Amino acid sequence: MLTPEIDAFIVRMPKVELHLHLEGSMSSQTLLELAERNNIELPAHNVAGVEQLLRYRHFSEFLTVYMALVRAVVHGEDFARLAYELGTDLAAQHVRYAEVMLSPMQHILRDVDIIEAVAGAAEGFARAHTETGIRVKLALDYGRQYGPDRAWKVLEQASAAMHHGVIAWSIGGNEIGHPPEPFAEVFAEARRIGLHLMAHAGEVVGPESVWGAVDALQVERVGHGIRSIDDPHLLHYLREKQTVIDVCPSSNLYTGAATSWQAHPLRQLYDYGLNVTVNSDDPTFFYTTITEEYRRIVMHFGFTVDELCHLTRNAVYGSFLPPYEKHTLWHEMEREIKRLRQELGV
Ligand SMILES: [Zn+2]
Repeated sequence: MLTPEIDAFIVRMPKVELHLHLEGSMSSQTLLELAERNNIELPAHNVAGVEQLLRYRHFSEFLTVYMALVRAVVHGEDFARLAYELGTDLAAQHVRYAEVMLSPMQHILRDVDIIEAVAGAAEGFARAHTETGIRVKLALDYGRQYGPDRAWKVLEQASAAMHHGVIAWSIGGNEIGHPPEPFAEVFAEARRIGLHLMAHAGEVVGPESVWGAVDALQVERVGHGIRSIDDPHLLHYLREKQTVIDVCPSSNLYTGAATSWQAHPLRQLYDYGLNVTVNSDDPTFFYTTITEEYRRIVMHFGFTVDELCHLTRNAVYGSFLPPYEKHTLWHEMEREIKRLRQELGV
């Protein structure tokens, strides 16, 4: 039950977020201002109009709206603004560390310079760090529907952007009809150059997509992964390997990947012993935040304070920070959590 004390704990507890898209975090107001400044015609002209567009019920519809709106973001300074606003917003929610994805193809196709975009985002996060102490690292999330051939060129750019804080390579976008396997060589090269590996899988396609991600791509973290619930062998494998599964409950509800809270398998995946984290995915598009996700899993799945702490610990150790930094971070967070629990009596 979400008591006022537990709610206060959720609001104030130190957090880590691992599955979050920069473009999906921009506020409607920022989006409209950028569109106006960059002379981009959007399918909406005010905040209410943008919010109207965001009322979709299917994953494909979500992708279409996402692509239409993101055109407002053009220059390095635009990315810096998004990153600064996201960084300070996360810090206000007591997020200590976050890994944020930037989706290169939707920008490259509009002739946006991806290095300029990444450099801008890095600058925005650096500014947020100076003001609040939050640390943010970047991942490039390649739209799988563009195919493996074009991914090579983007990976080259990811490599060139590593000094701007790019630490991971991922695939996202339309999972249907675009299995992970053809990307195996690209992922092997990404690993060789020192990037960590993730993939969106098992979100709208079944267990075979997760198998492809862990087997063929050798990812360290699976984004969503909720359809793993349909394959006992896969569940067993993921538990044995302790593969990190970054679950984004509200996102799944909004895109229709889960038909209802009752039908969402988070509770079963967690109880089975999978290494699960909880995340917001695209806060603007799914009307949520990491704080709100924690509230919702208490309300809908009865997660306890102990379990929320466990999920947070999973996020710290599932992050791509070097091992000693994970220990230091968790040590600090754990101390703070203990103090807070004592103060609130939860
Ligand atoms: Zn995602």
